[in-house]
Amino acid sequence: MTDNGAPMPEPYKIKVVEPIAATTREERQAILEAAGYNVFGIPAEKVFVDLLTDSGTSAMSDRQWSGIMMGDEAYACSRNFYRLTETVQRLFGFKHILPTHQGRAAEHILFATIAHSDSQIPSNTHFDTTRANIEHIGATAVDFMIPEGTDPETYHPFKGNIDLERVEEFIKEVGPEVIPICMLTVTNNAGGGQPVSMENIRSLKELLRPHNIPLFIDACRFAENAYFIKEREAGYGTHTIPEIVREMFSYADGCTISTKKDGLVNIGGFIATNIDDLAEAMRNLLILYEGFPTYGGLAGRDLEAMAIGLEEAVDERHLAYRVAQVRMFGEKLAGVGVPVLQPIGGHAVYIDVKRFLPHIPQSKFPGQALTTALYIEGGIRAVELGTVAFTKVDPETGETVYPLLELVRLAVPRRVYTQAHLDYVVQVFAEIVKRKDELRGLRMTYEAPFLRHFTARFEPI
Ligand SMILES: *Cc1c(COP(=O)(O)O)cnc(C)c1O
Repeated sequence: MTDNGAPMPEPYKIKVVEPIAATTREERQAILEAAGYNVFGIPAEKVFVDLLTDSGTSAMSDRQWSGIMMGDEAYACSRNFYRLTETVQRLFGFKHILPTHQGRAAEHILFATIAHSDSQIPSNTHFDTTRANIEHIGATAVDFMIPEGTDPETYHPFKGNIDLERVEEFIKEVGPEVIPICMLTVTNNAGGGQPVSMENIRSLKELLRPHNIPLFIDACRFAENAYFIKEREAGYGTHTIPEIVREMFSYADGCTISTKKDGLVNIGGFIATNIDDLAEAMRNLLILYEGFPTYGGLAGRDLEAMAIGLEEAVDERHLAYRVAQVRMFGEKLAGVGVPVLQPIGGHAVYIDVKRFLPHIPQSKFPGQALTTALYIEGGIRAVELGTVAFTKVDPETGETVYPLLELVRLAVPRRVYTQAHLDYVVQVFAEIVKRKDELRGLRMTYEAPFLRHFTARFEPI
């Protein structure tokens, strides 16, 4: 809302435009067939509204683009590194900043430094690259989401919270010596972009403190999380977003971040911490894998764009619009009869496909069927997070285990699409709703040995 009561339009105006091509239904049909009915294989130029991910897809501002021209490409100690360091210290309060080329590189450096094959790393929910980096070392990643977090239909203001009781039991069970850190993902991406409360972060720190277990935050969507705290948590309504961010991170000993999300850049990330000897050890690995510690796999210009992006990320009007845009999109979809995950999270709307297409069994990939229908009907690209992405084979019985939730995610890139684009998507859904009982499942014709969702091929049944 604006102060005159009118709904808030985009809080920016457009200076550069990128045309998007139109395709015909016949073209889309042929493109989809050539891509093996997997939207990952569709050329981006043939997509009309691309909601595949919010990662690295943000539009940079005029200030960021002018920052690009201010890149100091000195190998060591470029001006932009100091600007980034100053910004991160001011926003997050951490002493040491190690730039990396993206989030998973930060995770790699962190876990290669602190974890061993017998380590146990608890979290609310590890993001898949975090889990993969932990498991790659032979260590164990454990998720302790609150029970409300797994129910798609009930409302809870902070469904991303970690279950403190289960963490406490876990520490007793395995012993604090095998837990090098505890991780907290804000907002909880794998759990539907749901926020974590300040109370939960503070209590987690209190729980870990007597055991000397450092708390690290996976901070990819730190600004959206701060906005939800302001909006929903008692006592924070009058705080500024930078004040909330500062308090959130005051309970942490460090963070890893992909700035391709809230950081509003197309590439970048960092690790930050207050632990001196850990920073020293990680800097040595950074040189080995990413580059000299003042650029860490990025160009000077990228560091500048990142420093500016982080400041823009905590702008309250930007966040108010962002969160309202995603929420309104979700509510309009619900309004035309699409079952969406509740409450609507920060960066995406998730569709509950089991409720939407109950006539297609999981063995026939209903989520994938919906992503193909969205492309054919409207040139829209979404991502399946269901049977294709998460089916497991029980190692003992050899039985196929389907995931509990069959979801399709519509991620909204930051500052890229206008309200009219999202209304268009709602219209396309309204058409699909009318004929949803005619949608058919798919048969898989090729799958890779791991991460099959990226390259799997299908044919319609
Ligand atoms: C995207 C993401 C990462 C990984 O970052 P990349 O830049 O894609 O390597 C880690 N954690 C969360 C929560 C994310 O959303």
